[in-house]
Amino acid sequence: MKTLLVTGGAGFIGSCFVLQRIAAGDKVINLDKLTYSGNLMNLKDVESNPNYVFIHGDIGDEKLLRKVLPEYQPDAVVNFAAESHVDRSIVDPDSFVRTNVMGTSILLRCVKDWWNTLEAEKKSAFRFHHISTDEVFGTLSMTDPAFTEETKFAPNSPYSASKASSDHFVRAFHETYGLPTVITNCSNNYGPRQFPEKLIPLMTLNAIQGKPLPIYGSGENIRDWLHVEDHCEAIYDVLTRGRVGETYNVGGRSERNNITIVTKICEILDELRPRKDGKSYKEQITHVADRLGHDLRYAIDCSKIERELGWTPKHKFEDGLRETIEWYLNNSEWVESIQTGEYKNWLKTNYGSR
Ligand code: NAD
Repeated sequence: MKTLLVTGGAGFIGSCFVLQRIAAGDKVINLDKLTYSGNLMNLKDVESNPNYVFIHGDIGDEKLLRKVLPEYQPDAVVNFAAESHVDRSIVDPDSFVRTNVMGTSILLRCVKDWWNTLEAEKKSAFRFHHISTDEVFGTLSMTDPAFTEETKFAPNSPYSASKASSDHFVRAFHETYGLPTVITNCSNNYGPRQFPEKLIPLMTLNAIQGKPLPIYGSGENIRDWLHVEDHCEAIYDVLTRGRVGETYNVGGRSERNNITIVTKICEILDELRPRKDGKSYKEQITHVADRLGHDLRYAIDCSKIERELGWTPKHKFEDGLRETIEWYLNNSEWVESIQTGEYKNWLKTNYGSR
């Protein structure tokens, strides 16, 4: 790979991918709308690198895309851009349709039109890689087998419905127009630079800020967890060696329920930054009304990517969790930068004092 057009590269996973690819010597054009979760501080280590270009823009902006694609002639487009938070999708589904469905469709159409102008060799080497989620498959019982690439889509939240729709559009652009696409469906990511509306950073920061640790329902909901660096390596493997037109599941083989994770976060914090009153952070755990339509369990069978591409996760969950908590404790400037403004207002509107 030489030149990558990355969308949503200022977000949690996209920024990790950009940092990895710049370190490996690729050129990266990062097109990002900078919504509440897009943060250029995530990329300060590469901002003056000659191989890095930032474009402030929307994947739904056809005029911009028709200028950027011929100008930079990317070898691949990697689409991370999305509205990504289930709770927000319950409050405002339309914005998820706008970016995740309409935005992806416009991006695909512009990429397809430009790709059709390429000479044969570059055309066949080109890839459109769409980043998606295991949530498109719906929910599992405690005893169901894990999702495979053949599991039928059954999205339950507006977020997962919008991602499922975008996955279908990507597939359709391959089937209809021959666009060389690949899709990855990944489980819950964790790691540095994740916006603190998601479980691990929310609980870590609430704990040290003396706030309640709100757990939906009984906390029995199970997710599979994967370190963001492992996810980004999987994306690169699929992008460079995956079979065109295929989808690959990516997961950590690390199923944990929410209460186990929050308890573990408290134990790590008790050790790294003990409360002044000597009590455990577990005292701050509270149970709140369950999320509407809350999926019970996600589990992902990633044997296809392991078998075909030899990818396996490198991080052990408990070690990665500790390193992630340490990152949040050591990066107060980053935390302050995102805990002001829009995020604070959103939390106040939707969760009162939480
Ligand atoms: P994020 O919310 O941290 O980042 C999303 C980025 O997209 C932000 O930088 C935002 O500014 C940008 N963006 C939003 N709308 C845009 C638009 N219209 N045009 C251009 N840029 C726009 O999300 P994330 O957690 O990094 O997730 C990235 C992708 O990975 C998403 O597609 C998400 O569905 C998928 N995914 C996430 C997880 C997870 O656990 N976080 C798991 C599996 C898949």
